[in-house]
Amino acid sequence: MTDLDTTVYYDDDADRSQIDDKTVAVLGYGSQGHAHAQNLSDSGVDVVVGLRKGSSSRSAVKADGLRVATPAAAAAEADIVSVLVPDSVQPTVFETIRDGLEPGDTLQFAHGFNIHYNQIRPPEDVDVTMVAPKSPGHLVRRNYEAGQGTPGLVAIYQDETGEAFDEAMSYAHAIGCTRAGVIETTFREETETDLFGEQAVLCGGVTALVKTGFETLVDAGYSPEMAYFECLNELKLIVDLMYEGGHAEMWQSVSDTAEYGGLSRGDRLIDEHVREEMEEVLEEVQDGTFAREWITENQAGRPSYTQLKHAEETHQIEQVGEPLRDLFAWGDDKEEAAEAAAD
Ligand code: NAD
Ligand code: MG
Ligand code: MG
Ligand code: MG
Ligand code: MG
Repeated sequence: MTDLDTTVYYDDDADRSQIDDKTVAVLGYGSQGHAHAQNLSDSGVDVVVGLRKGSSSRSAVKADGLRVATPAAAAAEADIVSVLVPDSVQPTVFETIRDGLEPGDTLQFAHGFNIHYNQIRPPEDVDVTMVAPKSPGHLVRRNYEAGQGTPGLVAIYQDETGEAFDEAMSYAHAIGCTRAGVIETTFREETETDLFGEQAVLCGGVTALVKTGFETLVDAGYSPEMAYFECLNELKLIVDLMYEGGHAEMWQSVSDTAEYGGLSRGDRLIDEHVREEMEEVLEEVQDGTFAREWITENQAGRPSYTQLKHAEETHQIEQVGEPLRDLFAWGDDKEEAAEAAAD
């Protein structure tokens, strides 16, 4: 085992007095927002959630026992403003909160897109930080409630007070990230690796691989149900093994036949052509081409996004998957499915 050349920070590395007497405005109550707001509040931090008047999330905030105000009022009151509205609306929301930022306040993000690509230009007299759990928000909340943590990243873009890092670590502690471990990075590194990862491997790459495998089997005359199980359902079992013990644990758990077949065929599929495309996708992230495309797409009312989303939602694998998942549900889901079937 080689040592990591990165420092990992845990609970003991965070000084909670940096945040205990501060007010945090959490803007947005979606995936990350609801988790940050509730974890902070349960950790004893004063929280006000910022949502537009008429936002459908306002009742959820109140039901969860938290204060709610407009983004502008919340930001004006707070010492730390955590910007957890969707990346595409952050620049507009920022314009409404800018005047509420006082010298020494902190503008905080969970992803670096708008700072890194200059869509938000923060005033010079505030700290600009990032605390980014490396996980969907519902797990950030669920892990915290279970007494566990979610790994996270901390980055400092602007350190006006000299205390930006300590305060960000304190926030990471309060949402449970230091229970699992926190790594320091930069806005550039977080933004570029996050975009590349979700495009090439996690979201884009894996769904394309699954769909192509599914289509290959179905086109060859195999049943869509079999193709669904083989190419999509079993993926979870394989990924769980990789998550627990890396590729080694997965290779060890599958049959020798699967191991030889996979080792001898994998590189044929993900070949030099795919590597070159990945390099191009990375370049588009690095030189801002992707960011410009996504910003323009939003300004135009998302025409391509809508089309792509529709094609994905109506793909045969989705039609086949829904009833199958009900039939083969297990645990609590199975009881629910059985009840639904009996209705
Ligand atoms: P989301 O889409 O789940 O929720 C955003 C919330 O913002 C909505 O629920 C709503 O309450 C509010 N909102 C939406 N439009 C608004 C508007 N026009 N004005 C004011 N409020 C509005 O967002 P998310 O996925 O939690 O993403 C928030 C940030 O966290 C982003 O920067 C994202 O990149 C980052 N992040 C997300 C995840 C994740 O798993 N979802 C993981 C790490 C980082
Ligand atoms: Mg303020
Ligand atoms: Mg501050
Ligand atoms: Mg992302
Ligand atoms: Mg098999």
